[in-house]
Order: sequence, then structure tokens, then C-alpha cells
Amino acid sequence: MAVQQNKVSKSRRNNRRAHDALTAANPNECPNCGELKRPHHVCAACGHYADREVVAMVDDVDLDDDAA
Ligand SMILES: [Zn+2]
Repeated sequence: MAVQQNKVSKSRRNNRRAHDALTAANPNECPNCGELKRPHHVCAACGHYADREVVAMVDDVDLDDDAA
């Protein structure tokens, strides 16, 4: 097992972690359904991208149908 040679002080540790913060997502509104979506990505709610449908969405999927 590797053993550190010197103790890292709280100050040095916290200074290192000062750049670790995550940046918030920057969602856009879908022009078709108005749902928030990631920029340059297909809308997860309606499957549209740039005013046209690129992913066909299924209305209702009942997963319990096959179980019985
Ligand atoms: Zn949408």
C-alpha cells in the first residue's frame, strides 16, 4: 500500500478542492412541447429536434402485460 510522505493540511486539501465544484446544467425550452431539454440534444419528452420529430415516441407501454 502506498503511504503518503507528508500530511496534507486542511488548507491545502480545501484549496485543491476549490476547483472541484460542478457547473449547473443549462437547459433550453423545447420549441415543440416546452419541456426543458439539454441544448443540442433530442427532447426526451417528445422526441423532437429542431422542430421535427426524429424519435418516434410510444404513447403507453404497459410492462405488466407480459408478466401475467
Ligand atoms: Zn419536446
